Amino acid sequence: MARLTDDVRRIRGIGEKRAEALGRLGIHTLFDLISFFPRRYEDRTAVRLISETRDGESVCISAVVADEPRLERIRRGLELVRFQAADESGLVNITYFNQPYMRRQLHRGDCCRFYGRVELRGRSRSMANPVCEREGIAPADSVTGRIVPVYRLTSGLNQKTLMQTVRQGLDALQVEEFLPPEFASRFPDIRTAYESIHFPGSWEELQQARNRFVFEELFLLCCALGRKRRAAKSGVRIPPADFSEFYAALPFRPTAAQRRAVEEASADLSSGSQMNRLLQGDVGSGKTLVAAALIWQCFRAGFVSAFMAPTEILAEQHFQTLSGFLSPFGLRCGLLTGSRRASEKTSLREALRNRELDLVIGTHALLSLEIPDLALAVTDEQHRFGVEQRASLVHADAGLNPHVFVMSATPIPRTLALIIYGDLDVSILDERPPGREKVDTYCVGTAYHSRLLAFIRRLCAEGRQVFVVCPKVEEEEGSEENADPAEDGLPLSDGPELRSAVEYAAQLQAELPELRIGCLHGLMKADEKDAVMQRMVSGELDLLVSTTVIEVGVDIPNAALMLIENAERFGLSQLHQLRGRVGRGRHKSYCVLVTDHDSEETRARMKILCETEDGFRIAEEDLRLRGPGDFFGSRQHGLPPLHIADLGADTETLAEARSAAERVLAEDPEMQGCPKLCERVELLLSRIDGTLN
Ligand code: ADP
Ligand code: MG
Repeated sequence: MARLTDDVRRIRGIGEKRAEALGRLGIHTLFDLISFFPRRYEDRTAVRLISETRDGESVCISAVVADEPRLERIRRGLELVRFQAADESGLVNITYFNQPYMRRQLHRGDCCRFYGRVELRGRSRSMANPVCEREGIAPADSVTGRIVPVYRLTSGLNQKTLMQTVRQGLDALQVEEFLPPEFASRFPDIRTAYESIHFPGSWEELQQARNRFVFEELFLLCCALGRKRRAAKSGVRIPPADFSEFYAALPFRPTAAQRRAVEEASADLSSGSQMNRLLQGDVGSGKTLVAAALIWQCFRAGFVSAFMAPTEILAEQHFQTLSGFLSPFGLRCGLLTGSRRASEKTSLREALRNRELDLVIGTHALLSLEIPDLALAVTDEQHRFGVEQRASLVHADAGLNPHVFVMSATPIPRTLALIIYGDLDVSILDERPPGREKVDTYCVGTAYHSRLLAFIRRLCAEGRQVFVVCPKVEEEEGSEENADPAEDGLPLSDGPELRSAVEYAAQLQAELPELRIGCLHGLMKADEKDAVMQRMVSGELDLLVSTTVIEVGVDIPNAALMLIENAERFGLSQLHQLRGRVGRGRHKSYCVLVTDHDSEETRARMKILCETEDGFRIAEEDLRLRGPGDFFGSRQHGLPPLHIADLGADTETLAEARSAAERVLAEDPEMQGCPKLCERVELLLSRIDGTLN
């Protein structure tokens, strides 16, 4: 018997060329082959009498070739093979385009099954290029009268060959059950499941097989990630701290959620193992404070922390905030951003080397630094960084295994976070600091434009500031930031006209000549962006038109209106993030979603935003409506590709799989009692090791 890890070349008839083509589909081993599930299925179960077929219907008919097939050359490059086929009820005209060999394969009197789309003109029926096979063909090889798998293809492979190859793979392998019996018993046995997922006897059978594989895939993934989490490296042991001293020096009382998150992470710091923790909290939930508390704990133990922010402006803001929280304790902060002069960089390096700084804050420029005594690496707005960057900050000081604390304002349903962030523990800030008012949210059509102008005028006259967000930079070309629909909203091919940031800024300036209006977009250079943003921060601008570049946590407490054009283009979570830019001060704030897109889905999406400010609920709806692939580009997270599970639709199974994996690992961390499961988990781990850090 062949083994799962055997090369596909083991199958008779698969040579270099075929193996190469299979390789392009990611199929290298026999296991890859049988795990290459069909993309969809075609229902060819309906077998009809010719006279009973209806126009436009795809069906199978059993018929005799009624006359000798003729080859007709219509013109260069167009050859037809034509004949009639008959059953007891009637006749059908069959035509093959550019398949002259059909004339040699079929002869008058042959009994065949044809599958194809019937066309009815008057009383005459025809089929073009139907699938044809002789009566009496072995059922296993038949592609009519049953549900037929449709696979993803590559050049050099067609459906039929691939189907046969999978068939051979299934026949060659003895797949063994590896799920613990308590879970396996809920599904068809593994052998049947593989048969049914490729060659289902019925839709019901297919569904049962699918249930098994979804569970199996998520269960294995959860086991693998659980193993990884348990295999944490050792880390610097930071003595526990009594935070009441730190809290007492703050201008406000920390929320219960903040205290809890600090406790959780602080326990990691003093555990002796390396911390790998994600802090999730909605915009404005006060994540910075939690980081500050941890930095303080490390500082008291004589260690250095690094804090990485995704943009220069944010780095600067964090520098201000964190210095405010921490310098009263004598902690020394440094700031490093890309645009700093070389001499400043050199002196910062020097200061780090001489241990004259306890905290260094910066953009990814931090990655180039050597930081002695680094004990804690904080990364803000994690989803803005690629996995690689996160990894390199962690490895910046290989000797010390600094603790890793990442913060994200994109709320993800908890179970999903555990998968997306893989080997991270998760803390959640699910409470807002007190005294923050609701941001009133409305959805309107472009017909409201003049009323919106009046509203903007009034707010600005009161001294407030306004954000306007558009999905596009310039009218003609799609910009880079909008090129990836997964990142920046829904791909709508024929949606209403898109507002472009540049043009819209000009239009608004003409309509509101008394206002100071700026424009910001992703095609500008970093220092240009910073300059514009700085003017908004300092109040030199009344209104800022931008693309989604402002999404990330800049704090402008004076901003009271967020106006989003073409709101249908954005994901719900993204809209929620944008809305989080206002309502950060003492002023009553508003968010207006402008869209003329009148689909059921858009209306449902906008309604959710108007109804709730609960980021987790919004995230769940977003996940449900858009699926995880779109969530924010799962590739970025190094998530191993899932063959069959859909994290958006299969959330219940995910929860089950996770608790199942936890139970198994709690009872038997080394999985000694279930060697077959262990083998599969290790196979998966070896594959995801490269992608997750
Ligand atoms: P996040 O990064 O989670 O979006 P921030 O850390 O920027 O949020 O905090 C948002 C605002 O709330 C800041 O102005 C901060 O000073 C303030 N803040 C944080 N915690 C509290 C608290 N417990 N009580 C009152 N205000 C708070
Ligand atoms: Mg923040």
